[in-house]
Amino acid sequence: MIKSNEKGLLIVVSGPSGCGKSTLNQMLLKIRNNIVMSISDTTRLPRENEKNGIDYNFISKEEFLNNIRNNKYLEYANYSDNYYGTPIKAVNDNLDKGLDVILEIDIEGARKVNEIRKDAIFIFIMPPSMKILKERLVARKTETKEQILKRFKTAYKEINEVSKYNYVIVNDDINESISKMNAILTCEKCRVDRIEDVDLGNKEELIHEILSN
Ligand code: 5GP
Repeated sequence: MIKSNEKGLLIVVSGPSGCGKSTLNQMLLKIRNNIVMSISDTTRLPRENEKNGIDYNFISKEEFLNNIRNNKYLEYANYSDNYYGTPIKAVNDNLDKGLDVILEIDIEGARKVNEIRKDAIFIFIMPPSMKILKERLVARKTETKEQILKRFKTAYKEINEVSKYNYVIVNDDINESISKMNAILTCEKCRVDRIEDVDLGNKEELIHEILSN
């Protein structure tokens, strides 16, 4: 009766390092159908538990710069001295297949996506407090003290951008946060501006059927 746009949703998720956005996104993939993460290219070195082609495509700076020149990125940014970019082809292919695509990207990248993709949904994940953020960053032991400091200072800048997003989730309780994210995506799927076609059938025929009964 009502035919919605069959393209997937483009979902941008940002938030300071240590706010829990990766965990949330991974949980979202488990509870929703037809949703994928975009796998970014990065020049950052892999962490101990990270796998090439799954967490990121780990590439050289030379390769990254070459990809920029060849317009291979929907957006890219330099974060904490490393390049990160969203490969455009994979995103568009997945959206065309009807899959929802999550971009877990920084505020600079989100700003660029906002300029070119007005249909995207922007979700900001906020830590419950800066003290908790600091504790999470220190506890995960994936960065040096210097890197933690840099990421922690950047967090203040990032949080200032929250008003540019459509939704904010304060990630205090992970289960509550995931249920909010799930609800946001469900609501977005029902938006009137996603309707592509309304087919009410043949009115005269239906009326005739009522009368002849
Ligand atoms: P991390 O080094 O902790 O994996 O990521 C650092 C920051 O870069 C995070 O805020 C993460 O969301 C962001 N990021 C990851 N991939 C991309 C990307 O493709 N583009 C942009 N702009 N940021 C990204």
